[in-house]
Order: sequence, then C-alpha cells, then structure tokens
Amino acid sequence: MSAENILEVQNVSKTYKSAGTALRVLSNIDFSIPRGSTVAITGPSGSGKTTLLGLCAGLDRASAGSVILNKVKLDQLNENELAAIRNNHVGFIFQNFQLMPTLTALENVMVPMELRREKNVTQRAMELLAKVGLSDRAQHYPIQLSGGEQQRVSLARAFSNKPDILFADEPTGNLDGETSEKIQQLLFELNREAGTTLIIVTHDLELAAHTSRIIKLKAGTIQSDLYV
Ligand code: ADP
Repeated sequence: MSAENILEVQNVSKTYKSAGTALRVLSNIDFSIPRGSTVAITGPSGSGKTTLLGLCAGLDRASAGSVILNKVKLDQLNENELAAIRNNHVGFIFQNFQLMPTLTALENVMVPMELRREKNVTQRAMELLAKVGLSDRAQHYPIQLSGGEQQRVSLARAFSNKPDILFADEPTGNLDGETSEKIQQLLFELNREAGTTLIIVTHDLELAAHTSRIIKLKAGTIQSDLYV
C-alpha cells in the first residue's frame, strides 16, 4: 500500500448553531488515512460519527481545522467545486439507501453517470447491477425491492463513478445477517479489486473487524485509534 494519504483530517471541530444556541459535536479531531485503507468509525450514538463522515466527504463544512481529500483542501472550495469533487472521486452509501423513489433500479444507478455525461450509460449500469446480483430487478422501483436489494442498488450506484474513496454510514444497519454479509463482501471486493479506500461508520462489530483500522469516537473526540 502506498503511504500517500487520500484523506487528512487536521484539528477539525464542528459546532452546530441554531436558535441562538451552539452545540459542539466534534473537537480537535486529527487523523490521516493512507490510500487503499479500510477504516471503521465506531462509537456510541450521538458521538459525532455521521457528522465526521459528512465533513470528510465534503457534504458539510468544518467549523475549524481542515479536511484534505485527494490532496485538495475542502474548506477553501465553493459549493460547485465541492460538488465536482463528490461527483468525480467520492461514493456514498447511507443506512436508509436514499434511492430516488420515482426511478427504477437501473435509472438510479445511471444518475451519477448521466451527471458526468458519460457514454454507454445503460450498458454500464446493467453491468453494475449484475455485479451486485440484481440483473433481474433492473426495472423494479425501490418500493418493490427488499431492504437488502435496495442497499445493493445503492452500492451499484456508489460504484458507478469508480470512487477513489467510499464513505458508508451504517451500510448494514437495517439488514439481516445474511444480507449484511453480502454487502460486506461487495464492499471489500471493491477495495481489493479497485483499491477503493473504505471509510465505514458502523455498530456492526463483524463488519468493523474486517477493516484494518478502528477509530472510536466518544463525545466528539477520538477515544482510540487501533490497527487490527
Ligand atoms: P452519531 O452519528 O455518532 O450518532 P451525529 O454526528 O449524528 O452522531 O450527531 C452528533 C450530535 O450532533 C448529536 O447530538 C446530534 O443531535 C447533533 N446534530 C447532528 N446533526 C445536527 C444538525 N444538523 N444540527 C444540529 N445538531 C445536529
């Protein structure tokens, strides 16, 4: 593995402000992630995991400190530049899948490719659905799919821009054991085959144990950072 860091989080803090009150949810978080790593972020509910993932992925901005993704300092970018980084280098998977309900499985997978005006979009989206074992569900709408199938569509969509780094927030959170296992296999296959860095927020100890590093948060600070 190259020693180059794909992600650097430098002394990051985050305070949410609303209705005159300020809530500090992350304090002085500092870590670096070498390209190609697999990392789990764990910790109790409310400890700041989702907030941290959002800052690393350029979905939200830090109140202090810097996030450097693929050698680009995110805090200096405008919204369009941030969106370009997300579209070109980053994949996301969320616990509640976040598929578009009015689009079929196939169309959901095609969205990021169409945003980038790519060619052969239908064929490539079908190949991605085949990869996650859903060729026969291409024309189904999300409501017609089980939770595990929706999560696999969401994985196919996340793979569609061949991300350098994939952020997953509780990707196995609502799924039964067997389905979780399948999602886990697909994630680590992407890491092995394409070298995609995986950053996974999870309570799933089985999933965390498959990563090479576990960063544990407690009340907005790093409680431990262990290589496994
Ligand atoms: P975790 O993922 O570990 O459960 P979160 O990052 O979701 O933690 O939340 C950390 C804290 O920040 C919680 O107290 C939560 O209520 C608060 N929080 C999260 N998002 C917002 C927001 N948009 N505005 C205000 N407070 C928020």
